[in-house]
Amino acid sequence: MPVEVFVVGAGPSGLFSAIELARHGVQVRVVERDPQPHHQARATTIQPGTLELLSRAGVGEAILAASEHLRFARLLDPNLQIISELDFAGAGCEWEYQCALPQWRTEQILTERLGEFGVMVERGVTAGSVQSTADGVRVRLERADGTTEVGEASWVIGAGGAHSITRASMHEELAGDTYPGTALVGDVRVRGKLPRDGGALIASAAGYVLLAPLPEDRWITFIGDLDEGEVERLGRESPLETIAAFMKRRLGANVALDDVAWAAPFRMHHRLSRRLAGERRFLLGDAGHLSSPFGGEGLNSGLHDGCNLGWKLALAARGHAGPGLLESFEHERVSADRHVLEVSGQLHALAHAAVESARTGVRPAPPPPEQVAALVRARCMLDVEYADSPLVGEYVAGGADATGLPGPGVRYPQGLELAGTRHHILLFGDAEEAAAARLRDRWGALVGVAHVTDATPSALLIRPDGYVGFRAVPADATGIEALDAHLRTYLFPTPRR
Ligand SMILES: Cc1cc2nc3c(=O)[nH]c(=O)nc-3n(C[C@H](O)[C@H](O)[C@H](O)COP(=O)(O)OP(=O)(O)OC[C@H]3O[C@@H](n4cnc5c(N)ncnc54)[C@H](O)[C@@H]3O)c2cc1C
Repeated sequence: MPVEVFVVGAGPSGLFSAIELARHGVQVRVVERDPQPHHQARATTIQPGTLELLSRAGVGEAILAASEHLRFARLLDPNLQIISELDFAGAGCEWEYQCALPQWRTEQILTERLGEFGVMVERGVTAGSVQSTADGVRVRLERADGTTEVGEASWVIGAGGAHSITRASMHEELAGDTYPGTALVGDVRVRGKLPRDGGALIASAAGYVLLAPLPEDRWITFIGDLDEGEVERLGRESPLETIAAFMKRRLGANVALDDVAWAAPFRMHHRLSRRLAGERRFLLGDAGHLSSPFGGEGLNSGLHDGCNLGWKLALAARGHAGPGLLESFEHERVSADRHVLEVSGQLHALAHAAVESARTGVRPAPPPPEQVAALVRARCMLDVEYADSPLVGEYVAGGADATGLPGPGVRYPQGLELAGTRHHILLFGDAEEAAAARLRDRWGALVGVAHVTDATPSALLIRPDGYVGFRAVPADATGIEALDAHLRTYLFPTPRR
């Protein structure tokens, strides 16, 4: 039986996009090559901006309850003395901290939520090829027992990670570079005078050690700047001996290693596919982009990709979307993912500059407060925006004052109060009730219309992903008509097939 959407890969990006689709009432099928879930810590940081998406999808509470809450990002010297500290307080959102939990646990929570919609991940099933046809896609499925099947769907989401079969079918590659050097990541238990309310980058002349708390008294660690001897040592000794030796060389006796649950060497990349969509195929997460883990944004941006696409595919599947709506996915996410690469690249450079400073003894001057505030918002992924998207717009009458109102394409700060899967129009001030009634009549179940009286006269269109789609100031007859016309550029009030 053909389904509406096929998802290849049940990593965080595939699972979350499937939840978003199911939440919007789309039939979805998810296949995963690995027969069993993994138990590796991998990506551990969930950013405050992503918590908003997770909350809307009904998993925020589970993530908050399962995770450590990290309120600071610190730079320490090898004696564990604080050199500088980034405080997430004042970031400007409901949760001013990062959540830290192992990736396997995040995936478990997402899988459970998907199950609540009746969607079970089909494990041990590999997508061997993806082919687009005139009105859909065909995915060849291969099982471990040698049986095969050709699955059909209207669209395919490629969420198979860096070696995506969907991206290969689009003849695209992850263009960019690999950062120099090899690092080691581990899920460890350590002793030392390390605060558990934040992550710490410990910079020594011999290289860095990153340690960030995980639940159950564990830590995720990255150890970098491995020298030739250390690279040669990888895999020769037990992970416990290797990590203990690497830590000792950088931190002396200030941190003692007790246990290693999982460890792996890795390289870091900054890479982006030229296209994220084409002929009914979409690339999400690592299939479309790779960023330095110093940003802690790779997994997060895959979830933002899924959030951006879910409501658009749902409207398209129901015949309510013009072509511009699905086309906007690539435009919006390429620009947002490029920003992720920039921010994580900056943090990657800062970490290496801290090691260089430990070597030379020259400490850079602290950045000005406005730069620190911008960095906090960027680190929390609260600065994701689609301001240059063709899908957002505004009408501001000559002489009208839009100061203080969120602009087109930015995250609506009170977006969490707008539950459900619809667009919302918020009419502020003395907007005429007749206009609200006309909007309700035209847009029916697709758009909720609410009137808030005690505010600057204006109207905001909030998209189902919580971003401002249109701003009209004031909300007079011309402003409302402009908003209505904007909606009509991509949405059909009655379905067209
Ligand atoms: C050391 C390290 C630390 C990191 N820390 C962070 C962090 O703190 N925060 C953060 O946001 N990001 C972090 N990242 C990045 C993060 O790990 C990735 O961005 C994230 O895992 C991407 O998720 P994904 O679902 O796109 O891909 P993946 O996690 O790679 O999942 C892809 C899935 O698809 C399956 N698959 C592949 N091909 C097929 C096929 N043909 N058929 C069926 N199934 C298939 C795979 O088995 C896999 O399960 C880190 C990365 C590294 C290396």
